[in-house]
Amino acid sequence: MLSIQNISRQYPGTSTPAVRNVSLEVPQGEILALVGQSGSGKTTLMRLISGLEIPDSGKILVDGTEVADAAGKTWVAPHKRRVGLVFQDGALFPHLTVAKNVAYGLSRKEFPKEERQAITANMLEMTGLQDYRDRFPHQLSGGERQRLAVARALAPKPKLILLDEPFSNLDPALRLSIREDILSILRASDITAILVTHDTDDALAIGDRIAVFREGQIEQIGSPYEIYHHPQNGYCARLFGPANCLHQADGKTEWIRPEDMQLKPEKTEDSDIAVKVCEIRDTGRHLEARVQGDQGTWIVPITKEDGFQEGDSVWGSVKED
Ligand code: ADP
Ligand code: MG
Repeated sequence: MLSIQNISRQYPGTSTPAVRNVSLEVPQGEILALVGQSGSGKTTLMRLISGLEIPDSGKILVDGTEVADAAGKTWVAPHKRRVGLVFQDGALFPHLTVAKNVAYGLSRKEFPKEERQAITANMLEMTGLQDYRDRFPHQLSGGERQRLAVARALAPKPKLILLDEPFSNLDPALRLSIREDILSILRASDITAILVTHDTDDALAIGDRIAVFREGQIEQIGSPYEIYHHPQNGYCARLFGPANCLHQADGKTEWIRPEDMQLKPEKTEDSDIAVKVCEIRDTGRHLEARVQGDQGTWIVPITKEDGFQEGDSVWGSVKED
């Protein structure tokens, strides 16, 4: 549905490109989570896809149609790309009612009156806003405003929707339920979506696939399982939480999640890395041991029943996948 080919963009007056030679294919119906630190170029990539920014090089195709091509000078205006946008603050029209905000993107030429009314009613129902149709945005909660922003973006039946940090202005207590609401709306409409976030929990919870963005490039792309359990490098590993560094005999380095490791009191066939328990910590959620060996310090979850004590010599291993 979306094909990005070797896209780059450097802002005038800056020394490095915000987006560097990025290629990405997003199939129909996929929800791709784009995660990366602030300033890594996520918003710039969204602006390039939506047409708010012109690429210096590369090509973008939406549903097989070229919408931007730096070399061939193809340029399709943002409103003709059939790409919906949802921003952090919703960017709603404050002087329009909920229903009129939704209908706004439905041009009179393309959608006759009855169709506009039907689509609007349908969108309000899908987002659970049917009882609020005559309210104004300031009379809605933060979560309702974000649902309205999604309804408005989906109304003109875009081929693709881009959500740029849609949860970051929300009350932490409400975030989770709003995240689930928006996810079920996206799933119900079978739309292809890219959700930008700096929150790795959002990415793991929402993405069919996750792309890790760093300094304008995709560092790793894969399923949440692959990204979490098999990070390609230390950067990807640490972004998603604690990881133990393991140097393989063949010289390769792997990052292993604490819960993917285990400690045994005796050396066994599979547990054969000698380590010493330096500290046992109760995090409330579980007990974890900090162990020291030739490879440095690792964190490994343990249970009370293991009976390990600080100072014990034990044997560590990576659990089988
Ligand atoms: P993110 O969304 O991941 O936080 P952005 O795409 O907003 O990252 O920014 C990427 C880089 O480009 C940053 O270094 C930022 O300062 C720079 N940048 C963003 N917008 C502009 C602009 N309009 N002019 C110059 N530099 C910009
Ligand atoms: Mg941004």
